[in-house]
Amino acid sequence: MGCRSFLQGWTDEKGNDVSEGRMNLGVVTLNLPRIALESGGDESKFWSILAERVTTVGDALLFRIERCKEATPENAPILYIYGAFGQHLAAGQPVDTLFRNKRSTVSLGYIGLYEVAAAFYGGDWETNSEVKDFTVAVLRTLQERAKKLSVEYGYQFSVYATPSESLTDRFCRLDTEKFGFVPNITDKDYCTNSFHYDVRKSPTPFEKLDFEKVYPSYSGGGFIHYCEYPILQQNPKALEAVWDYSYDRVGYLGTNTPIDRCYACGFSGDFDATERGFECPECPECPECRPHDLRCRQTNLRLPRQPPGPPDGARPAQRDHLPGQAHARHHRHSGHGCRRPGCVIPSPVSGCRRS
Ligand SMILES: [Zn+2]
Repeated sequence: MGCRSFLQGWTDEKGNDVSEGRMNLGVVTLNLPRIALESGGDESKFWSILAERVTTVGDALLFRIERCKEATPENAPILYIYGAFGQHLAAGQPVDTLFRNKRSTVSLGYIGLYEVAAAFYGGDWETNSEVKDFTVAVLRTLQERAKKLSVEYGYQFSVYATPSESLTDRFCRLDTEKFGFVPNITDKDYCTNSFHYDVRKSPTPFEKLDFEKVYPSYSGGGFIHYCEYPILQQNPKALEAVWDYSYDRVGYLGTNTPIDRCYACGFSGDFDATERGFECPECPECPECRPHDLRCRQTNLRLPRQPPGPPDGARPAQRDHLPGQAHARHHRHSGHGCRRPGCVIPSPVSGCRRS
């Protein structure tokens, strides 16, 4: 599960609300732009292909559940026998005890809602309410199918606004091979993440939140609204303004603002984004070490008191740890050199030991 995954509310047979020890069994993500491209501008064809693909995704998720059920408690004792999944199973007991009756979730993910609308209505559709309704109808279709699957099979199928870090690239590459460079869809070398605003338009955080706030109601398996800023150390009130604005509008907001620090030269500021990752702009030595320096992501989390927000009592799953932060913290606090493969920065860092 990623940082944006949500578990639906669930009570045990005694009526206790349970969130700890529950789990998600996996995600299958739908390439929505491909369906739009295959439709060739014919909306009725789009809906029929979408229905077919959603069925395929449902089959894939059912297969995933069956594979997970093949595990035995002895395969992962920490999870099944020692209680990480909330119960202590004996060796040989079926692990499905922990999954069924909607205790676990599986996620029907999607990517590229922006491109779907762009395929039918052009790239600048954001202020057209009819087109917006069309995009909502797409997600409603996914949600209705997820609900039916949940009732039919007894596992919690939920619609997931997939993070798609690598899929934004992969799906676009595959679609470019098949359809060539299509304006606003494959010509930008990525698919837009889940329901997110087209980043090329550089909306203000307020515009972005207002545009996206309708979609989480149809993405109960997980979502995030996400804004990236330049350095705001001189203007923290700007962040407060966005957070205050978000509070009654969206359920979950991520904030990225760089506070980069180079442990080789002491530079503090904004690293350069390069093909190899973020690099210190000041430090001339040991370029191999630079990506190990810290780019700090500050994340703000907002959960609403009432909708708009995650439906069905959904709540965020556990947070991901950020490898970069953990790594930098390790450098700062440990008394020995780093053991991460390839890293030669001693701790505390005073220079490069690469020979
Ligand atoms: Zn440096």
